[in-house]
Amino acid sequence: MTEIQVTKSSMPKFDEYIEEIKPLWESRHLTNFGVIHNAFQKQLSEFLDVPNVSLFVNGHSALESILQAYDFPKGSEIITTPFTFISTTQAIVRSGFIPVFCDVEIESGTIDTAEIEKLINKNTVAIMPVHVYGNLCDIEGIKTVSEKYDLKVIYDAAHTFGEKKDGISTANFGDASVFSFHATKVFHSVEGGAVCFKDEKLIDKLNAIKNFGILSERNIPYIGDNSKMSEFHAAMGICNLRHLDEEIQKRKKAAERYRENLKDNGKVKLFKIQEGVESNYAYFPVIFDSKKRKEVMMEKFADNDIFARRYFYPLTSEAKCFQSLFNIQDTPVAKELSDKILCLPLYADLEEEIVDRICKLIKE
Ligand SMILES: *Cc1c(COP(=O)(O)O)cnc(C)c1O
Repeated sequence: MTEIQVTKSSMPKFDEYIEEIKPLWESRHLTNFGVIHNAFQKQLSEFLDVPNVSLFVNGHSALESILQAYDFPKGSEIITTPFTFISTTQAIVRSGFIPVFCDVEIESGTIDTAEIEKLINKNTVAIMPVHVYGNLCDIEGIKTVSEKYDLKVIYDAAHTFGEKKDGISTANFGDASVFSFHATKVFHSVEGGAVCFKDEKLIDKLNAIKNFGILSERNIPYIGDNSKMSEFHAAMGICNLRHLDEEIQKRKKAAERYRENLKDNGKVKLFKIQEGVESNYAYFPVIFDSKKRKEVMMEKFADNDIFARRYFYPLTSEAKCFQSLFNIQDTPVAKELSDKILCLPLYADLEEEIVDRICKLIKE
């Protein structure tokens, strides 16, 4: 039997990609804000319906760069959640800030807005919520608290590419939203990422930060990084963007088949479909009734050459690199979700027959 991985990267036709990169053999301009890079950035700005998009070599550097761009004092506190991919927390810590962990809502896995206010003090500068699995955060609630305390809101929107709420692209929420175009994401450029942001004064600054801090030849005002997107990556992004609709429609079919199969199952719970949200069907998380059952199912899947993923587990606050710094008792709901959740295989070409087989294993 062939192995079923949790994800499978989408790819354009070989010839389509080759066509896109062909001009590079003439121009020899392979990176540093090239023609394809600029075209991709413009296409994204139109597709996501946002004025400012800045491309990066990956989502993580987009997170770190936007954090740097806001010039928060070192040691400032940023309210976030530990129920996310480790990147979110690493970006905060590596940028010299302190992550303050807020618990999540059991219904969505996203930040529990009612808990945010208790964590705010004079050192708080921003909130970094995460739209996990494409479940959108409480946008309005977060906006209200952030305005009351004059905090920046930077969304880790890595899971929401292509999603809309009441017709509005998720790239528009908060002061900034960061996307990842990693190969495992719904939409990818092999490696890549972007930040969408409101304040147009940040355009030049972000371009400098991703290019060693260089604003112009003799003016290097920032301590920068090298995180520019290359022409080859941008070309993959352009190709994949053409096929995104089709990609999402296929994922939707598989996701709906899972839902149909699992709807009356006492052992697993599914996140509710959020009202007004156009989903991208990025993941198919299931919440088991106990950690034990989750572990047993993981093994049973593996025995059948099916690979589900513990995502997110452990909590980022439990990661070895932060050991003893944070208290997981502070976020009991996040802990519970992390213990019981498993992401089932989901990708565009996933056959219905395999979905049925996976569901049968759960039902047995
Ligand atoms: C993938 C991901 C990132 C990091 O993006 P990369 O492009 O892999 O650097 C950050 N946060 C979340 C929630 C992610 O899923």
